Amino acid sequence: MDLNYDTNNIFARIIRGELPAIKVYEDEHTLAFMDIMPQMPGHLLVLPKVEVVTLYQLPDEAATAVLATIKKVGKALEQAMGVDGSSVFQHNGSYAGQTVPHLHFHLLPGPLKMAGAHATVPVETPQLEKIAAQIRDAIAYPNSPHSDTLA
Ligand code: AMP
Repeated sequence: MDLNYDTNNIFARIIRGELPAIKVYEDEHTLAFMDIMPQMPGHLLVLPKVEVVTLYQLPDEAATAVLATIKKVGKALEQAMGVDGSSVFQHNGSYAGQTVPHLHFHLLPGPLKMAGAHATVPVETPQLEKIAAQIRDAIAYPNSPHSDTLA
């Protein structure tokens, strides 16, 4: 995953005011605007202004600020669209589907079209335990190489 920040990505240019966006909220640390190719009417994007590609690079103070904006704008979105619930999702890296390399959260006034579906039957516990053990190891040893058993 390319974690190097491209200062000329579209969202960096929107934050700097070099490209237009239909903004709904802005403060010192965050920005929210309409997605130009919405998955449904009301599709919003919420960004921290700090220059990072993924959530995992985001400093904790900036995470607090962007979560506060997601809560503020998400509640307003539900009210404005007259819906009883909404979805928040986010991609980390092109492997996961990220197309603009500045961290952003999608807010939808409805369900996700594809990614929200879960399997119809539970998997066997040993299968979950095996992956859980690998994740616990990665938490304990964050700089060790990728596990090839998960590939
Ligand atoms: P992602 O695939 O998670 O990186 O999402 C990028 C999102 O940015 C997509 O939903 C696009 O429709 C949206 N997008 C791309 N360019 C612009 C733009 N100039 N203004 C607003 N939204 C944009």
